[in-house]
Parts: sequence; structure tokens; C-alpha cells
Amino acid sequence: MAYKISDDCLSCGVCEPECPNQAISMGDAHFEINPDRCTECVGFFDQPQCRSVCPNEAPGPDPAHKETQEELLAKKARLHP
Ligand code: SF4
Repeated sequence: MAYKISDDCLSCGVCEPECPNQAISMGDAHFEINPDRCTECVGFFDQPQCRSVCPNEAPGPDPAHKETQEELLAKKARLHP
């Protein structure tokens, strides 16, 4: 399941450089995650890094983008051939 950044985002930007997939960028109101690039950090880290470093717990699972572990691994392989 891709992660999504909620309106709790403070726009501090600490998450952006931590993402191994360059999935995070500044949006209209706050930082956003591109679900096509988010793999929940599967294959890189045990925990989603954006959530780990966020001071306001803004990133969380996005029920609109449910994916299996296999699908997340396939996405990682696609992003990092
Ligand atoms: Fe990037 Fe991982 Fe956050 Fe997804 S969960 S946006 S891959 S840091």
C-alpha cells in the first residue's frame, strides 16, 4: 500500500531526501507522495522512512492504493532495474 501524507504535514521537508524512490515532492499545500513510486520502502528499510522521520506523523498508509508485498517488490524492481 502506498503511503500518503496527510494535512498534518508541516512542510518541513525532512522526509523528501529520505525516500529511496524519490516519491516525495512539494505539492500545492504540503509535501505529497507519488503512489506510483512509493513502495513502503520495501526492499530498502524495515520501516517507511518518511513516517519514521516525520515530526508530526503525517505519512500513513493510503487505503486507496492497496498493494501486496509482491506488488511492492515488483514496483521496486521496476523503479530500480
Ligand atoms: Fe518513499 Fe518509503 Fe515514504 Fe513510500 S514509504 S514515500 S517509499 S519513504
